[in-house]
Amino acid sequence: MSNAYEEERSVAFDAVQAAAQLTESVRDRMGEILEKDDQTPVTVADFGSQALICRALMEVFPQDPVIAEEDSSVLRNPDNIDVRNRVIEHVRDHYPNVQAEGIYTWIDHGTAREYSDRFWTLDPIDGTKGFVRGDQYAIALALIVDGTPKVAALCCPYLPDSLDADHPETRGQAFLAVQGDGTVQRPLSGDAPPSPIHTSDTTDPAEGRFTESFVSAHSSRGLAAAAAERLGITADPVRIDSQAKYAIVAKGNAEIYLRLPRPGTDYTERIWDHAAGALAVTAAGGTVTDMYGRPLDFTHGPLLKENTGVVATNGPVHDDVVAALTGASEEA
Ligand code: AMP
Ligand code: MG
Repeated sequence: MSNAYEEERSVAFDAVQAAAQLTESVRDRMGEILEKDDQTPVTVADFGSQALICRALMEVFPQDPVIAEEDSSVLRNPDNIDVRNRVIEHVRDHYPNVQAEGIYTWIDHGTAREYSDRFWTLDPIDGTKGFVRGDQYAIALALIVDGTPKVAALCCPYLPDSLDADHPETRGQAFLAVQGDGTVQRPLSGDAPPSPIHTSDTTDPAEGRFTESFVSAHSSRGLAAAAAERLGITADPVRIDSQAKYAIVAKGNAEIYLRLPRPGTDYTERIWDHAAGALAVTAAGGTVTDMYGRPLDFTHGPLLKENTGVVATNGPVHDDVVAALTGASEEA
């Protein structure tokens, strides 16, 4: 192990851990009092998370731009006074004296949009549908240097240690990675030390388990199923929201995460939806490319505009998966 990026990894962990306390306390405090289709809780949690994380980055790495998903314009709108007051209430659990303007400044620290040779990217709540459903979501922070993710703090505040046996007391796991230095899993609470994780060593794609979005609109399930059939995969996919899918591959609980454009759509993936997760997988031994086998290109601001879809695997099955996707796309 080298000491490269030790401070960045430590600051990133502390920041996502604090943000996870905020987002879980929003769910605890607001979950029952609001109507089911009310978006207020996720909005409050989104802004609160971005405020805390950008505040931490501003303090220690003030020169680093941050390309994050949100900006403060929604909060400044007088129509949203209720959301604003709740954001302030939750952020004050961490910074008791902060005023609204201070919170806007922290949030807007995340509005960089140009590529630079060192910057952070943040999704303050990835998997909003999962958050609202009381299910999985992630807080995803990554440092990108020279176009490559170097440090990842992928935080899954509701993910148990094992998907096989649901131990509620183990919910809340962070996955921390430094390029070339491995990935560790670190519980968000308690004193358990971080433990190294690895992708699975399965080499036969037919034995592969795959994971995909819970929300069918976010990826082509048809193409995934056609590729799975070509590979001889029979196991049902694990469907789960957010970059928790990358964590599952990094831990060796699945071999393949597919995110594929749906027919007739031309959605361009966002860097904050992939940077942290992709590094968590590659540093754990896996491989991540787009559906054509091209490396993810983080040099175009917020968009992965030179890529189509994303394929993350344990490593050994990667080429077979890309070939199966090519074959299945040609047939479709
Ligand atoms: P997931 O939880 O993996 O289904 O993905 C959640 C992420 O999907 C969100 O953060 C959005 O940025 C992203 N997203 C929104 N619309 C689409 C779309 N049409 N295709 C792919 N991803 C999308
Ligand atoms: Mg997202």
